[in-house]
Amino acid sequence: MRVYLQTDIEGVAGVTFFENSVDDSIFNYYHHQRMRRLLTGEVNAAVKAAFDSGATEVVVNDNHGSAYNIFFEDLDPRCETFHGRANTQPFWLPEIDNGFDVMLLVGMHAMGDVQGANLPHSKWVLNGGEVYLSEGSMAAALAGHYGVKTIFVSGDQYVTKEIQEKILCIETAIIKKALGPYFARSMTPIRAQQLIYDGVCKAIQRETEIKPYTLKPPFRLNLLDSKGHIPPLEKILPEDVEGENIVDAFTKAVNSFPWNKFGLKDVDGFKYSGK
Ligand SMILES: [Zn+2]
Repeated sequence: MRVYLQTDIEGVAGVTFFENSVDDSIFNYYHHQRMRRLLTGEVNAAVKAAFDSGATEVVVNDNHGSAYNIFFEDLDPRCETFHGRANTQPFWLPEIDNGFDVMLLVGMHAMGDVQGANLPHSKWVLNGGEVYLSEGSMAAALAGHYGVKTIFVSGDQYVTKEIQEKILCIETAIIKKALGPYFARSMTPIRAQQLIYDGVCKAIQRETEIKPYTLKPPFRLNLLDSKGHIPPLEKILPEDVEGENIVDAFTKAVNSFPWNKFGLKDVDGFKYSGK
């Protein structure tokens, strides 16, 4: 079984603040390192569970912010990692079209505008509001287009509920209880990692019960968000984009974002600064 592990950081136990990428203080540096260690621990729990359940390949997509967060030298040596410079990969989910069987979602957060959720942001709008998708369920929909089933999600009680409503029988791990946008009751890392490990093992055992998440046409897409993710959210694209399928619509949408450099092929002088 080939496993694709999609990650983010806002849905990790112990993470209660958005990343501050402008504060160069020593306090922020240490906070950063702690959050990255917590993320790494949860990702590793999912990787180990997948291999212990018979996976032949696990690839981790280090997807939050800079796309260079996970201490990959601490990961189970059997896995590999996609990481590097955010927004320059060939696709948001690199190689998802390359014959993977299942996807796991670790560290997911609720979509923007979800009151009470921990660190909610970004809200995909399909067909003017027929369906709203978080980053996690959008990843599941893109994977589903290629027949890849999303079988596990971890995060707070809001994002797990949203994805569970969309993907029947998906296994979930609620590793923190959101008590507000910047406040949560978190499990300790050891317990959160155990819950993730057990959840992934169960998900792989029950994998045949779960179907790929697919959406019906038409595919008119926009993204809602705002500076600081503060409501009211605004349309990021002045006009909805329309695609032949969800991957086509998503590709058109992200390629319209001014910060996007997906598919970069030539060196452009980028230097890593930790942000
Ligand atoms: Zn993130």
